[in-house]
Amino acid sequence: MIIIVKSFMNSYHIIIPPTCINQEYKGMETMGRKATLENISALCKRRGFVYQSAEIYGGLNGVYDLGPLGVLIKNNIRNAWTNAITSHDKDILFLEGALLGPHAVWEASGHIEHFHDPMIDCTKCQHRFRADELEIERPCPNCGNTAWTDVRQFNMMFKTQIGASVDHSSIAYLRPETAQSIFINFKNVMTSNRVKIPFGIAQIGKAFRNEITPKQFLFRMREFEQMELEWFCKEEMVPEFFDFWCNARKEFYTTIGITKNNIRIYEHQKNELAHYSTKTSDIEYNFPFGWKELEGIAHRGSYDLAQHSKHSGKDLSVYDEEIKSSYLPHVIECSIGVDRLLLTILFDAYDEDIIEGQARTVLRLHPKIAPIKAAFLPLTKKLSEQTKQLYEDIVKLGYKIEFDESGSIGKRYRRHDEIGTPICFTFDFDSLEDHCVTVRNRDTLKQERINIQQVAKYLKNVLEE
Ligand code: ATP
Repeated sequence: MIIIVKSFMNSYHIIIPPTCINQEYKGMETMGRKATLENISALCKRRGFVYQSAEIYGGLNGVYDLGPLGVLIKNNIRNAWTNAITSHDKDILFLEGALLGPHAVWEASGHIEHFHDPMIDCTKCQHRFRADELEIERPCPNCGNTAWTDVRQFNMMFKTQIGASVDHSSIAYLRPETAQSIFINFKNVMTSNRVKIPFGIAQIGKAFRNEITPKQFLFRMREFEQMELEWFCKEEMVPEFFDFWCNARKEFYTTIGITKNNIRIYEHQKNELAHYSTKTSDIEYNFPFGWKELEGIAHRGSYDLAQHSKHSGKDLSVYDEEIKSSYLPHVIECSIGVDRLLLTILFDAYDEDIIEGQARTVLRLHPKIAPIKAAFLPLTKKLSEQTKQLYEDIVKLGYKIEFDESGSIGKRYRRHDEIGTPICFTFDFDSLEDHCVTVRNRDTLKQERINIQQVAKYLKNVLEE
């Protein structure tokens, strides 16, 4: 507990009861996990993580804009993924492919023929559903009617026209996955970078799917971002690399603070495999709405390179000096949605507890992922100048930190708890005398006094935990 007292001289002091120093705060009661889609999406809007796109015009279904904190947290997610996949002493090169692709690419990849979801409509209210997510023997969940249209196949790609002429050659599609730009550039990357099989090409970028029923906030969107790694290797090496990447990818989630028990691997049955895959394992997360795919790890065989070789007439095979002949490498793909991972992180970090009888919402984000690493708070505005000086010294070191002087100290702590700031440094009137600040830990509420000279080192230690 912090007690703020006004002294005779009209100055303020933070009094930290001895029980709070260097130990966990005793007045904290946990309320258990309270993460629901409703309170996560409300928090995202309230604190500026994510907004419904075009909200002032009624919103665009399945499309979202990122607010200032959303931009910061997504950058941290991208960096964490990039660092993780490049930390294995393996050749990984990066690519940034175009979002638009001509008809020929999607014909070769099989997306024109196979990228469908089964769709069904209620004949009374015309509500549309994915037929595989509905029990059609039951009444319509919207109006109770029991008559349905036939199931139709709905292609999920967004089609558009390039240029002024309207003929077949001008048809283009927004990419439904980032992977195809990697396959069509495979030879370019290989010949311009002197890499040898095995190696990987990775990409972070937007993908677009005209989902029949976008839902569950960031879980199923129409415009989203993927982080994909295509690992090219010889066919005989596939079992070894498949296991390697499954383990490495599963491990990644604990390194960014996701609860180990909420992650599992689910291996697809033969009848669940996509048209290009002979083996797929999903990394699933235990969402409040059930275990769902977070990342797909698929053995795509040589399907994509073979298809693009055949359709383009360009040989995408690789020459093997040892056996003096050419072959098409096999591919292991690790594919994850950045936005779906952001939602997962928010679910996992969200908590509510009670402090001194007052409810608190807290995001227990890993410091690596937290959008703001630390807050610098003057106890009152009278101490702003000195606190600002300390903040400016630290911000020069390159940390994303905040100086926050408005509102009561309690309110400022609550705001930083809610956006997941791991630590707050508070400058009070004693700081003027003893050159110390109070550090408050978001998760334990532990408070300690440290010398101002120690602030940079303290912060570095917290971030490197
Ligand atoms: P699902 O079964 O959930 O529709 P999928 O099997 O179609 O997913 P993939 O094609 O394997 O998904 O895409 C790889 C990853 O991209 C998924 O694991 C997920 O994290 C992300 N992803 C796919 N579709 C969406 C979407 N509509 N919105 C947000 N993320 C998505």
